[in-house]
Amino acid sequence: MPSPPIRIGIVGVGKIVRDQHLPALANDPHYRLVAAASRHGKVDGIDNYSSITAMIDAVPELDAVSLCMPPQVRSAAARAALEAGKHVFLEKPPGATVSEVEHLTELAAAKGVSLFASWHSRYAPAVEAARAFLASTRIRSAAINWKEDVRRWHPGQQWIWEPGGFGVFDPGINALSIATHILPGMFVTAATLDFPENRDAPIAAQIAFRTLDGVAVAAEFDWRQTGPQSWEIVADTDAGSMLLSGGGSQLTIDGKIVDRQPEAEYPMLYRRFAEIVRAGVSDVDLSPLKHVADAFMLGKRRVVEPFHD
Ligand code: NAP
Repeated sequence: MPSPPIRIGIVGVGKIVRDQHLPALANDPHYRLVAAASRHGKVDGIDNYSSITAMIDAVPELDAVSLCMPPQVRSAAARAALEAGKHVFLEKPPGATVSEVEHLTELAAAKGVSLFASWHSRYAPAVEAARAFLASTRIRSAAINWKEDVRRWHPGQQWIWEPGGFGVFDPGINALSIATHILPGMFVTAATLDFPENRDAPIAAQIAFRTLDGVAVAAEFDWRQTGPQSWEIVADTDAGSMLLSGGGSQLTIDGKIVDRQPEAEYPMLYRRFAEIVRAGVSDVDLSPLKHVADAFMLGKRRVVEPFHD
């Protein structure tokens, strides 16, 4: 007997919900989208509520919720959902602090429901091929270049500049979610964070990591890149020079493309969520979030010119 669809509600109807969550859910028979909760946003064709608690009270048959609001307000919503016995899908980053997500993981276990800290970039098409390549050789050094134009990708968003909004680590944590999946265990050894003088979150960051066997990994995140955008991880290895580009969509070894497939990150995230719900387990890897916390903890703060939208 096939399992009945997971009845899901979506919370925080903004850009990523419209771009990715709604199309992924519409095409996945494992789910039935039954409600949405948002202060301003609405989803056509289903019941809409102004808050998650109103949605949970009004729709008791909900099995799961997908939390797509900014990280600063995600933990309280997750707690309400878990307390009500709902499975929870967390957009990235899973929270504004490490410890709040650890508490959520414990609460999910206590309530017997699944918690999913989703890392969409890990599901980019060439990531597994890069992981296999790096596991088959010796890495001499690696670098992460994640540079994009904040005005193009986050037009008018204010929460990204507020404390807990992560600034340039909002895209940078995507790079770290790939790096922590394909590179050996590593830790931050130094960092510099550039804060616009009128903002509470960094616009750029340079972070030095070292792997447990002493390999240097240098990361550069920058939100001021106009023109071509860079979302790439490079590695110099005994088996050649690796370039994972396009945010994880293409793998090149010594200049030759060895893996390039169509992108399907959000359909794969929802497939994984259904899998863990059916299996009765959680999937919460906090390593990307810990690196961001460490960069803030160890990083030197540099004040740079003001940023205006
Ligand atoms: P967004 O367009 O600003 O949407 C977030 C929604 O959350 C808002 O529309 C808002 O809807 C709701 N919200 C609730 N409390 C809020 C608050 N205090 N401040 C602002 N909004 C609040 O943001 P987004 O780009 O969709 O990003 C949401 C999350 O998805 C972030 O964690 C981000 O890292 C992640 N993500 C984004 C992208 C992308 O391309 N944009 C890609 C992957 C992941 P109401 O006003 O209706 O409540």
